[in-house]
Formats: sequence, structure tokens, C-alpha cells
Amino acid sequence: MNYDHILIRYGELGLKGKNIKQFILQLQKNIQQALIDFPKVRVTRSQGRMFIVLNGESPEPIIDKCKNVFGIYSMSLAIKVENNEEAIKEGALSALTQSKEAKTFKVSVRRANKRFLIRSQELNRILGAHLLKNSSDYTVDVHHPDVEVKVEIREKATYITSTVIRGAGGLPVGTGGKSLLLLSGGIDSPVAGYLMMKRGVKLEMIHFHSPPFTSERAKQKVLDLTKVLTEFGGTINIHLVPFTKLQQEIFKVIPERYAMTVMRRVMLQISERVCEKKKILAMSTGESLGQVASQTLASMNVINEVTNLPVLRPLVGFDKEEIINYSKRIGTYDISVRPYEDCCTIFVPKSPVTNPTREKVNYLEKDTDFSELIHEAVEKIQLIKVDNKPESQDNFDELL
Ligand code: ATP
Ligand code: MG
Repeated sequence: MNYDHILIRYGELGLKGKNIKQFILQLQKNIQQALIDFPKVRVTRSQGRMFIVLNGESPEPIIDKCKNVFGIYSMSLAIKVENNEEAIKEGALSALTQSKEAKTFKVSVRRANKRFLIRSQELNRILGAHLLKNSSDYTVDVHHPDVEVKVEIREKATYITSTVIRGAGGLPVGTGGKSLLLLSGGIDSPVAGYLMMKRGVKLEMIHFHSPPFTSERAKQKVLDLTKVLTEFGGTINIHLVPFTKLQQEIFKVIPERYAMTVMRRVMLQISERVCEKKKILAMSTGESLGQVASQTLASMNVINEVTNLPVLRPLVGFDKEEIINYSKRIGTYDISVRPYEDCCTIFVPKSPVTNPTREKVNYLEKDTDFSELIHEAVEKIQLIKVDNKPESQDNFDELL
């Protein structure tokens, strides 16, 4: 008898009433989306439980996909049998003997269906004895077993599970609204995107590029990073902003030390327009405090002045090393370290100011009206939709 189901456990702590219903429906949808390449597989719900019905597919690749779905706390392979003693015995034995590394076990019966006539304690004993008699390598350990064979007797059937596999945790993407992530080609912003999605937030990306100073390779890098993130959040839109004219203008009229600060302010103004258009309520960035000159509290204070929208910085308290570890784990690191020209690194001033003030920057900006160029950049944004299918990228590419 082989495993034919995967039991999905989700954390419902802190969720109530209408929220939990929406949470579960979204989670089911996200799992179905993640398993789109396995057409035989079904995702079902019954009595507060979610199951993946394998229909003959082997479980490992499916578990790998599910490990990236936020909202899943843990998973177990399960065998579904009829509600009778013989079938349960056979299923329990299969579950135990498929746990190859285990040496000790324990049986835990839960009788949700009280019409099943053998009581839990009694069935624990019966099954324990059956497993010992019909296997040779295992002993019982009720306190610290290597594997716990869990038997859950429900209305229509009994589910038998053993090993527990950890899920990604978090909340299902789509339950927490939408945020516009300022995505560069660096290490930090993709990790920031991952953490936003972990809290249930759906992402759209905005990237500023400056052709011909930045190349097609730099653009491809941003597409590739987004592709990796779709593994966690499904389809993601990228808004590609032509930034060359604005950057040239900024570096012409603003003293070099302040150019970076003004550039960030312009980026946020453009991002805000996109948020308005797409009804997105917050932006997010990969900034972390103190990392570089542009990431001091003084800089954030000045940069934030141009927008009323929340600018979320999920990495604010992280060390660089922690961010790098994350990026290796989620699979963005190797792409992020590819050499490329970022629009910011090309025009980057040698020693940007670390302690700007709003007064000073407003004074420096007062003689230049960037609004015309900002309007033009917004008009020329290119929208690219990236999905989580292996081959297809840029499957839709049009002007807004
Ligand atoms: P990252 O590794 O994400 O590039 P960083 O430490 O290099 O971050 P900066 O270059 O100062 O930091 O950028 C700070 C943040 O500004 C980035 O995390 C990103 O959110 C945003 N950003 C920078 N450059 C761009 C760009 N070309 N397009 C979109 N967002 C950008
Ligand atoms: Mg960067």
C-alpha cells in the first residue's frame, strides 16, 4: 500500500470568522496553481482539513513544490483506508515500513468518528502489537519515537500518516493585499519581496533602467529574479521604467553628492503613480539601515517626504550576512551576483551625502521641475507579466 494523499496543515492562529474562510480558499487556489504541471493531482478540503489527492503521481516533486507555498505549516504523506480494523492494520504497517530511517515508533489513534466501535486506547494497543509482529527492525518508544504513526478515523475514511515535513509558514499570498516592490538587480530587494509574500502580500515589481547605459543583460537579470519569486507567489507583473532622461537631468542640475537622494525621491514619485493606477496601497524596498550612505535614517526621512504611501522595508533590521543566507536559500543569490550595470551604479556619485535634510534637498530641487520628465517616464512604462511556468517568460509584453 503506497501513500496516496498529502495532508496539509495550516496555522490558523489569530485568524477568525470570515478571515479563515478566505485564508483557506486562497491557500487551496495557491496550491492548485503551484501544482499546475501535475494535472492528475487534486486539492480537496473536508472538515477543516486539506488534502492533496495524488492519483498515482509520486509525492516527492509535489512536496517540493508545496514547500514554497506560504500558509502551509506542515505536510504529511497519508494513506487513506476504509473504516475497518483490517484495512487500518494494513495501512499502518505500510506507513511504518516506508519510514526507512526510523528505528522506534509509536501509534497515536484519534477517533473523530465515534461510531467506529474500537476505542482509541484499545486500537493503539491492537495496532502496536500488529506492527511489532509484522516487522523486524522496529521497537516501541512512546516518549521519543523516530516516527509516530498517526491514525485518524473520520466520518468516511481513515487517514494514516507518519513523517511530518515542514512547510514555508506565513500566510497565503493574496490574503494581504498588494505591494509594489522596487526591484533592483541586487541581493536585497528580491529577499525583501520574499518576506512580503511570506506575509500574504501579492507583489508587483517596478524596475528603473537606463538604456543604453544599462544593457539587455541587466533587464534579463530582473526578469530572472522575478521568475524565481513566482515560485512563491505565482504570476508577477513588472513595470519597467525608462529612467535615462531623468537621471541625466538629475546629474546635470543637482550637486553630485545629493544626486542619489534626489534620484530616490524621483523613483518613489514614479512608483506612487503606478500604485495609484493599479490601486496598490504600499511600496516596499530592500533597504536596510546603515548599509550604505543612502540607507541612513536621515536619507529615509528625506526620501519619504515625496509620498504619503507607506514604504515598507522588511530588511530594516537585518545584517548583510542574514540577507545573503536568505537569498541563497530562496534561490536568488546566484542571479543577484551576476555582474551587471545598475542605473544607480553607473551614475553613482563618489561620496553621496549620508546626512541630508529636507530643507537642503528642497532648496536644491526648487529651480527644476521634474514633473514633465516624470510624466513621460510613466507614459513609457513597459509592462511584462512573468509566470511560474518553466519555459515561458515575457508571454505578454505590451505598453500600458
Ligand atoms: P539591492 O541589493 O536590493 O540592490 P542595495 O543594498 O544595493 O539593495 P541600493 O542600491 O541603495 O541598495 O538600493 C536600495 C533599494 O532601492 C533597493 O533595495 C531597491 O528596493 C531600490 N532600488 C535601487 N535601484 C533600483 C532600480 N534600478 N530599480 C528599482 N528599484 C531600485
Ligand atoms: Mg543595489
